[in-house]
Amino acid sequence: MNLQETYCSLSAQVRSRSQNSAPPALLLAVSKTVEISDMLEVYQAGARDFGESRPQEMMRKAPLLPQDCCWHMIGHLQKNKVRQVLTYASWIHSVDSLELLERIETIAQQLNVRPKVLFEVNISGEQSKDGLQVTEVDEVLQFASHCSQVIPKGFMTMAPFDASDKELHEIFGSLRILRDQLEKKHQISLPELSMGMSHDYLIALEEGATIVRLGSSLFGERIYNKPV
Ligand SMILES: *Cc1c(COP(=O)(O)O)cnc(C)c1O
Repeated sequence: MNLQETYCSLSAQVRSRSQNSAPPALLLAVSKTVEISDMLEVYQAGARDFGESRPQEMMRKAPLLPQDCCWHMIGHLQKNKVRQVLTYASWIHSVDSLELLERIETIAQQLNVRPKVLFEVNISGEQSKDGLQVTEVDEVLQFASHCSQVIPKGFMTMAPFDASDKELHEIFGSLRILRDQLEKKHQISLPELSMGMSHDYLIALEEGATIVRLGSSLFGERIYNKPV
């Protein structure tokens, strides 16, 4: 299969496996380390949403893709990179501290943009992972509810790479339940659940993912030492 065919078959699968909530889940094309020519291939097949994890790489690539692309920052974001990132990214999936959220709000005011943000939650409680602890989510949501620029949209999580299917169901299901509880408690709508990568997106969709972040299943294995 070429890239266009791969994109079409993956997006058909994501659509058919989405839970019956309309609209179907978004297939976010994770393009870190991927060359522009390959990104343009999937663009031709209909992809408009691209996810990058490094600000530098997004800055370099975004001007080279058509203007109707939508950029998602999915990787850990340092506060001193927020200004750069907000010039292109309309979504930030990786808000993992109150300080980062405050910084995004401040810069967004200066740039007069309205970024959509997802709060990254370390739902499995793993020590090594980025993300808010479940107990930290409340204060971040409280701050977000007073923001003029930032639009809170929902949550993101990454499951441990070695999790069993049973554990994946628990992790993704827990994020959905947490979301349901916090929507009620804070009286806000948090419709998006960004969860699932190439090896676990089918389970994430079963648990209600609204955005799946697919890199290697779409573009092939990443080659990190290749200059991009
Ligand atoms: C790289 C990356 C992905 C995509 O990973 P694949 O396993 O290649 O699909 C998804 N989410 C985040 C945060 C990533 O950094």
